[in-house]
Amino acid sequence: MSDRPTVIGVEVDPQTRCAHYHQDIDVIAIKHFCCGQYYPCHLCHAEVAGHQVKLWPAERFGEPAVLCGVCGEQLSVTDYLGTSNCPACAALFNPGCKLHLELYFEV
Ligand SMILES: [Zn+2]
Ligand SMILES: [Zn+2]
Ligand SMILES: [Zn+2]
Repeated sequence: MSDRPTVIGVEVDPQTRCAHYHQDIDVIAIKHFCCGQYYPCHLCHAEVAGHQVKLWPAERFGEPAVLCGVCGEQLSVTDYLGTSNCPACAALFNPGCKLHLELYFEV
């Protein structure tokens, strides 16, 4: 898809898995509020970005911030928090990602 945002990180595959999270269901990338750039995970950001993470403030949760690596759909933070799979292609998202939401979002 041509309008799909670029995802940068360490060993990123076409469905946004990376060197750190590479199970079948690790198919989301998260836009980081600090730089507006999509990364597969916080560890990729730490290795590649060269700056401190800034968390998404709660009042901006309506903006697109999560990319489905399977189909390229972008979800808002609110949509992502309310679902366990992609609303566009039904790909299952790793529920484990939600255990460290505080690395990305002010929750
Ligand atoms: Zn950043
Ligand atoms: Zn990573
Ligand atoms: Zn999808």
